[in-house]
Amino acid sequence: GLAARLQGTLTKIRGKGKVSEQDIKEMMREVRLALLEADVNFKVVKQFIASVKEKALGQEVMKSLTPGQQVIKVVNEELTTLMGSEQSKIAVASKAPTIVMMVGLQGAGKTTTTAKLANYLRKKHNRKPLLAACDVYRPAAIKQLETLGKQLDMPVFSLGDQVSPVEIAKQAVLKAKEEHHDYVILDTAGRLHIDESLMAELSEIKATVNPDEILLVVDSMTGQDAVNVAESFNEQLSITGAVLTKLDGDTRGGAAISIKAVTNTPIKFAGMGEKIDQLEPFYPDRMASRILGMGDVLSLIEKAQSNVDEEKAKELEKKLRTMDFTFDDFLEQLEQVKSMGPLEDLLGMMPGMNKKGMKDLKVDEKQLVRVEAIVKSMTPLEKRDPSVINGSRRKRIAKGSGTTIQDVNRLLKQFEDMKKMMKQMTGMQAGKGKKKGKG
Ligand code: GDP
Ligand code: MG
Repeated sequence: GLAARLQGTLTKIRGKGKVSEQDIKEMMREVRLALLEADVNFKVVKQFIASVKEKALGQEVMKSLTPGQQVIKVVNEELTTLMGSEQSKIAVASKAPTIVMMVGLQGAGKTTTTAKLANYLRKKHNRKPLLAACDVYRPAAIKQLETLGKQLDMPVFSLGDQVSPVEIAKQAVLKAKEEHHDYVILDTAGRLHIDESLMAELSEIKATVNPDEILLVVDSMTGQDAVNVAESFNEQLSITGAVLTKLDGDTRGGAAISIKAVTNTPIKFAGMGEKIDQLEPFYPDRMASRILGMGDVLSLIEKAQSNVDEEKAKELEKKLRTMDFTFDDFLEQLEQVKSMGPLEDLLGMMPGMNKKGMKDLKVDEKQLVRVEAIVKSMTPLEKRDPSVINGSRRKRIAKGSGTTIQDVNRLLKQFEDMKKMMKQMTGMQAGKGKKKGKG
């Protein structure tokens, strides 16, 4: 994922203690590769990088203590914006029935999605859809929809394969009105490639029934070609939205970005499997994370931002620099860490700490409880000045905390190591800390 890609650049920056324009450039190169790997169209990538770079240069990134995370955050925000900031709902006509037309290449998932959408509308919105079999070309296409209808116990309108799709669509809408269906979903034909006669037919259906929604169904594995597909269908039909199918596969979903960028219409649903209930509303923010392959990284950033009290962090930094750091502070730090969840991933985000250093100290979560007990068994003097902790004090602390003298010794040693390590690190960041304090 992107987080891993940025690691190399980040290590370099950490050594320097400052982010330069060149560093940002390097990070942007990694972002670019991550997006191309996710099959986002190269033209779209180019535009995107330009806008992110500008943001990154203009923002807090260059001043930040955690530039990599800031870059990821900017990229993620931009991606989310690019795909439409919020979840987009399906149309509802002011006068029933709402007419939904499904279009797309053969095998994209139109027929399956027609049934899934009907199921979704009934289940989530208490609607009563009618399905219409307008694909008269693909062998057994009508049968496929009828089977799905049976499975759902929902009516399927069909006139066989000897009647034109335009006529079937027209009749289906009339039927829906007659029988008081509030939605009619037209399953149309596709071709393996974009095809003029097919487009002409779809245009005619559109002109005849005037759909409230024209959903382009796109297989998310389509990759780079998604741009051409989306462009052609949109040019001919002015689609109102898209459905991205087969997201349960190992695709990174780059097609989502291309579709939105080219058609400027929202992706409304995501197909997450072959089963009839595997259709979900499309969430741009989740897709952004998927494309960047960063899973939990973002939620970690958010956690760190909300849980680490800014003021306290600053105070702590000052204490560390003056080596005024006591076991009380240590305990407080541990409490904060505990409230944030998985220790390993979080330590790298805390001011003045880095993951590797903490790992070496072997403060794992199981040990936290023991460590806490030991520190709580110390007297105020011992906490402030651990150097007074002699043999008999160690024995007393071990007894009081229900641990062993070895445990106490180990913690004292770790505490000293930690102080040393922090001294090194704060020395490295001292210049930046001062700048930050001003603003
Ligand atoms: P159409 O030609 O556009 O009507 O496509 P179909 O609806 O017949 O779907 C083609 C194939 O894709 C079928 O085998 C479907 O089961 C499968 N399919 C459709 N949507 C999904 C999805 O979201 N996930 C997976 N794994 N398969 C899907
Ligand atoms: Mg079909």
